[in-house]
Order: sequence, then C-alpha cells, then structure tokens
Amino acid sequence: MSETIFAKIIRRELPADIVYEDDEILAFRDINPKAPVHVLVIPKIEIATINDLEDEHAELIGKMVLAAQKVARQEGIAEEGYRLVFNCNQHGCQVVFHIHMHLLGGKQLRGSAA
Ligand code: 5GP
Repeated sequence: MSETIFAKIIRRELPADIVYEDDEILAFRDINPKAPVHVLVIPKIEIATINDLEDEHAELIGKMVLAAQKVARQEGIAEEGYRLVFNCNQHGCQVVFHIHMHLLGGKQLRGSAA
C-alpha cells in the first residue's frame, strides 16, 4: 500500500490542527471543511479502506466512535447533534486511502448522508 498524507500527519511530518490523540487514534480538522466543525478521526495504524477491516479491528472502530463522541463534546456540538461518515472507494468518494471517519456538525445538516 502506498503511503498517504495521513501517515505523514501521524508522524508530524505535515502540520494538522489536532483536536484529540491517544495511543491508537488521532483526530484533526479537515483542511477543506464542509461544516463549521469538520474533524477527521483516524486510526494510527494504516488500513486503506473499510473493506480491509478484519474482526480484530472491531475494538479499534469502537474506539474511533468514542473518540468522535469526545471531540463532539469538546467542540460543543454533542447535544445539537452531528454526523459520522466513512467513505469507501469510488462510489463513496474516498480520496485518502487510510480509513477515516468524518465528524460533521455545528450547523443544521441536510437530508441523508449522500
Ligand atoms: P475522503 O473523501 O477520502 O473521505 O476524505 C478525505 C478528506 O481529507 C477530505 O475531506 C479532505 O479535505 C481531507 N484532507 C485531504 N488532505 C488533507 C490534509 O493534508 N490535511 C487535512 N487536515 N485534511 C486533508
């Protein structure tokens, strides 16, 4: 798998506005935000797409959701609500091939996730 821009952010070779970090997870603001709060939650291990997940990653994905919940509280958007989205491959419009969960909020989001 070729390395992604997110691997460089994890190693601090590229700057990012980091809002949460623990041993397994990093969360930072999207460079091209689609909402007032747009944070990407990523695992520190490289997994290209949701299709590449194995049973052993179940706990990690749960931790990503819990990290997003913490960030939503931190950002003050938890009660009003927010959206968590994973994009996968071409039809999902995935551009960066290191799995990431979009946390979107801070305004009234419209319609479905599409
Ligand atoms: P995808 O379409 O793959 O689900 O989303 C990738 C996201 O990564 C996009 O929303 C894009 O704006 C964001 N992104 C791409 N490159 C960078 C970067 O260098 N820094 C940050 N913070 N976000 C990035």
